[in-house]
Amino acid sequence: MELIFEISRPGRGAAHVSASDVPAVDLDHIIDRKYLRDELDLPEVAEIDLVRHYTNLSRRNFGVDLGFYPLGSCTMKYNPKINENVAAMPGFTGVHPDAPDAFARGNLELMYDMQKRLSSIFGMADFTLQPAAGAHGELTGVMMIKKYFEKKGEKRHLILIPDAAHGTNPASGALCGFEAVTLRSNMEGGVDLEHLESLMTEDVAALMLTNPNTLGLFERNIEKVAQIIHSRGGLLYGDGANANAFLGKTRPGDMGFDVIQLNLHKTFSTPHGGGGPGSGPVGVGEVLVDYLPVPRIVKNDSGYGWSDHFPDTIGRMRAFYGNFNVMVKAYAYIRSLGAEGLTRATEMAVLNANYIKEKLKPYFDLPYDRTCMHECVFSGNRQVEQNGVHTSDMAKRLIDFGYHPPTIYFPLIVPEAIMIEPTETESVETLDAFCEAMISIAREAEENPQRVKDAPLSTPVSRLDEVLAARKPDVCWKK
Ligand SMILES: *Cc1c(COP(=O)(O)O)cnc(C)c1O
Repeated sequence: MELIFEISRPGRGAAHVSASDVPAVDLDHIIDRKYLRDELDLPEVAEIDLVRHYTNLSRRNFGVDLGFYPLGSCTMKYNPKINENVAAMPGFTGVHPDAPDAFARGNLELMYDMQKRLSSIFGMADFTLQPAAGAHGELTGVMMIKKYFEKKGEKRHLILIPDAAHGTNPASGALCGFEAVTLRSNMEGGVDLEHLESLMTEDVAALMLTNPNTLGLFERNIEKVAQIIHSRGGLLYGDGANANAFLGKTRPGDMGFDVIQLNLHKTFSTPHGGGGPGSGPVGVGEVLVDYLPVPRIVKNDSGYGWSDHFPDTIGRMRAFYGNFNVMVKAYAYIRSLGAEGLTRATEMAVLNANYIKEKLKPYFDLPYDRTCMHECVFSGNRQVEQNGVHTSDMAKRLIDFGYHPPTIYFPLIVPEAIMIEPTETESVETLDAFCEAMISIAREAEENPQRVKDAPLSTPVSRLDEVLAARKPDVCWKK
């Protein structure tokens, strides 16, 4: 495909500006000439070529609106377009971030009500909507934990992180000055309780746990885990990025979590990935309410307003009040689905993951053969040992079948991991077709392994140097 600069021809254009009827001004009096350019090196293309260029470019991309995108842990699901329309309403988009409370009461009420609804869905005492993403929410949560122990005068410097955890968890702990200690998983893919007992000392501030964990497995001993942590004065942090696994079924607050972060841009109607704005609200139990970031929304005589008067707060985590439009989409999603709809979404997410797990089980190793939650994790070990074909080869081959590959090589405790998250929004026909593609690839690995190793065969470029492409991408056009 040619670059836009290569199709450029002098004199062509897609815009026609009428001759100006405003008298010219001599800029020399206003600005030093050296700051001005006469020539701008911009491509000159006719409108039709411009439209075709960008339409063709967009077709080389892959997204949920184009096909199945089973990227485990990331929850790439269809997000109802009506929620985009709601978030685009002028009353939501037009308000100035510095507008006085009185001019933004409706929006404040939406956020206030959103906090209340999240508190009831997740069983927490209160929520903040400030953090801009999941990892930012983790940081907020761990900062509150740190402040809580400072206030109590306890010097705890360790934070426990299971070996299956998302990489952002140890990073968030470290950013707050905690030393991360790895907690082992047991044979069932859950927390190794004996190891937890031995690690849980008065030096440990918290355990950061994902439930269901990144193997897609529900922690059966969660109450016991919470009891061990709390009995030694520690706090239980929950990574709630994958909340579509339990909405309406159970609540982190009831499981014993003291603080959790959510990813609205996974569970609640904003696409994850693509670098767009996210939102990582943080919910707290009573023990941490005083430490929530400010400003907080308060209900007062004249409606809703902001308040900074919380002496133990960790302070402000973000300019203004977070990514408001993501909150509006989540609010529209929650209100339109209702309790019943959210529960049904979870049921379908879990059913779909188990459907795929059972269909693919004869063809791929399944290290933890239990009922899974919203995702299932296979291993490509059999294909490596029998055919010399790796998980990365099979993932590349899936592209030729028109699918985005699942998450691979994560979680780290599963060798050659293939982590599939179908989400609740896919039909049985889509799941069947995907499973057929996976099964053909497993067969091909036996019959013609080289073909799998050469994949993808249908894309503009095939195998890139992934490290160079990620670390030193050359996206500059030079004449
Ligand atoms: C996605 C995810 C995160 C991080 O969320 P970001 O918004 O990408 O920062 C943290 N933990 C888990 C389990 C996740 O799946």
